Amino acid sequence: MLQPGDTIGILGGGQLGRMMALAAAKLGLHCHVFCPDPHSPAFAVTAYSTCANYEDYNALEQFAEQVACVTYEFENIPAPTVEFLRGRIPVLPGDQVLKTSQDRLTEKTFFQSIGIPTAGFAEINSAEELKSAAQTLGLPALVKTRRFGYDGKGQIFLKPETDLDSAWETLGDLPAILEAYVPFEREISVITARNAQGQTATYDIAENVHRNQILHTTTIPAAISAEIAQEARRIGETVANALEYVGVLAVELFLLPEGYAQRLVANEMAPRVHNSGHWTESACTVSQFEQHIRAVAGWPLGDTTRHSDCVMTNLIGQDIADWPNLTAEPGGAFHSYGKAEIRDGRKMGHINRISPKTNA
Ligand code: AMP
Repeated sequence: MLQPGDTIGILGGGQLGRMMALAAAKLGLHCHVFCPDPHSPAFAVTAYSTCANYEDYNALEQFAEQVACVTYEFENIPAPTVEFLRGRIPVLPGDQVLKTSQDRLTEKTFFQSIGIPTAGFAEINSAEELKSAAQTLGLPALVKTRRFGYDGKGQIFLKPETDLDSAWETLGDLPAILEAYVPFEREISVITARNAQGQTATYDIAENVHRNQILHTTTIPAAISAEIAQEARRIGETVANALEYVGVLAVELFLLPEGYAQRLVANEMAPRVHNSGHWTESACTVSQFEQHIRAVAGWPLGDTTRHSDCVMTNLIGQDIADWPNLTAEPGGAFHSYGKAEIRDGRKMGHINRISPKTNA
């Protein structure tokens, strides 16, 4: 168990690392952020930082000597980096979840192995395999690279008339999966925390709307029945327990319309704090960021009780330029990530708009 004044290492210096570091400071813990980008937003809020590549083993060695444990804000950390650190200090969440979530094929196979439904899928390594899987699974469908996809990158929507040879070429001839199209009614996510003692705590279920395949809003509560919410919670906790997970975990789910035998289908998971949990900062007793820090520090999990309704809106690119109005809004909690350069499609901040709680 970490003591106040101890230091947690964070791999990755983006907004998620920044918000974790802010939460750690609130608990009297320090953070040391390791990131190759000299302009990392998290550097601005931590006492200790290392700007070096993830393959710089000298820098990693020194980093390991200065921290009590390591966590991370993104799942695509090179495996040898994690292995190197793990030989020296605890890296949390553990190895199994990184291996599982770095690869869409492994991830979907894992979901099915613990009884959580997914879209139909097939492993694809060539244009020929793509054509034959498209026949079996049917079109429309999505072809996605197995690794390194996010915010809709590394995936192509295939219509019945799409030329599959050129789609395969556009994807880059990379190991992929074909995923059946899910005619979902809503996208929801469940955010669950688990600590080493096996205690779990799950936030209320949120509903997500994407624009240009980037998260646009998260609304809480989601417009779903109590039974669906209960099932979503069960899925989050089942995944966390199956992985003997330590930290905060997000599972993105598709909700199918009434009439389908399986109404919830898992899309993907993230072994970290998640954009669809930013609302917890303003509407819950303990935010997802603090919860993650508590879990990796070996502290008791905090209270996930929600005291307000909330709509979180991501501020993408130029949206942040409206800060004079956004900061003047009653009921609005504006959060800027302090990124110097505004770029199209870049997550620059978010605003949580809270209102009195309407249901349990
Ligand atoms: P992903 O990168 O897998 O999270 O996909 C990004 C977004 O694409 C999701 O949030 C959905 O809106 C959409 N999407 C992904 N997979 C499917 C699918 N199998 N069926 C329908 N829509 C999907």
